[in-house]
Amino acid sequence: MDDLYNSYTLGPDESGRFGKFGGRFVSETLMPLILELGERFDQAKTDESFWAELSALHQNYVGRPSPLYYCERLTTHLGGAKIYMKRDELNHTGAHKINNVLGQIILARRMEKTRIIAETGAGQHGVATATVCAKFGLKCVVYMGAHDVERQAPNVFRMRLLGAEVIPVTSGRGTLKDAMNDALRDWVTNVNDTFYCIGTVAGPHPYPAMVRDFQAIIGREAKQQMHAAEGRLPDTLVAAIGGGSNAMGLFYPFLDDPEVTIIGVEAGGKGIDETMQHCASLTGGRPGVLHGNRTYLLQDPDGQILEGFSISAGLDYPGVGPEHAWLYETGRAQYVAITDQQALAAFQLCCEQEGIIPALEPAHALAHVMKIAPKLPRDHIICMNMCGRGDKDIFTVARALGIDIDSGH
Ligand SMILES: *Cc1c(COP(=O)(O)O)cnc(C)c1O
Repeated sequence: MDDLYNSYTLGPDESGRFGKFGGRFVSETLMPLILELGERFDQAKTDESFWAELSALHQNYVGRPSPLYYCERLTTHLGGAKIYMKRDELNHTGAHKINNVLGQIILARRMEKTRIIAETGAGQHGVATATVCAKFGLKCVVYMGAHDVERQAPNVFRMRLLGAEVIPVTSGRGTLKDAMNDALRDWVTNVNDTFYCIGTVAGPHPYPAMVRDFQAIIGREAKQQMHAAEGRLPDTLVAAIGGGSNAMGLFYPFLDDPEVTIIGVEAGGKGIDETMQHCASLTGGRPGVLHGNRTYLLQDPDGQILEGFSISAGLDYPGVGPEHAWLYETGRAQYVAITDQQALAAFQLCCEQEGIIPALEPAHALAHVMKIAPKLPRDHIICMNMCGRGDKDIFTVARALGIDIDSGH
């Protein structure tokens, strides 16, 4: 544990640092914006009416609380630990992203911002942002790498249906990292009316802490629900890591329960080796600065940021939230990598055993559960975050399995 804290839940410090990670590495032009945002979020945090407004929308618009579900057949099939899923795939828009977007947009409205901008990779955060903007009648502009615009046509169409403007980003390699850079540039140029809604626990302070606080509802509910179901804490938590927001959301309320083992699952792609065909920033990267914070990044020997690779488009951010970097270095959480092939096998098992078509991201978490559960005793409780549903992934899975989805074979 960092000497500064007696608790893992007190971070970040005033300058936005979790140990030596995080911070505010931004230009002078951006600094006043993020300082103001930090102040306004600090005010909102202690304002009961803010949380009451959010809570009502969680209940009536998102469908929270999401269930905590005991996976009976999967548990029997694997023959060891008792497996529970936190069902955040049942949220409106099909994933955990909306938890964060609602929080940020309620804050934006309180700051009297009328134009919301966002970056998106696979398009899930863009869709969640466009959704909440439509709900509140706010202008929405989504930056998306030109390469991703081509790869993720259904989500581009969804965003446009919801009234958002999607701007293809051609700078750099035209992927998520470049979209985030362009969104930051837009924010500096349109200070007065614009709010930047970041999609994961990354970016300059206060974003990593703010997004975590909005996602922590996942872990708070899970803790209560586990108490009701089993009368105790789970023994192990497992969640997939892209930027790390669904994982931080599940983990955060358990950080100061030392008896709970915490495991983050990164995308191992084709395997963690010199070919770098993966997206495991912690298990296969090293520290550097990107998007305003210091964290673990995928980079070449010269410090050039590399493109991540994963069968799951939602996991291919080349960095990871700074709080995860800190939990990794302090040893409070463990991080492992799961390959595309292992995730595909877990995807299929989940469909067959539980009647749940998972997103490819949580299929990575489940693949790790499949590895560890058989070796654990029957009274060991695992809780994994089923953070998204797989409708969006069936075409990718069909292709990977060599099936022509139109002819059915
Ligand atoms: C976006 C996304 C992720 C990755 O983002 P995190 O910030 O790591 O949670 C994981 N799962 C699903 C279903 C997603 O949509």
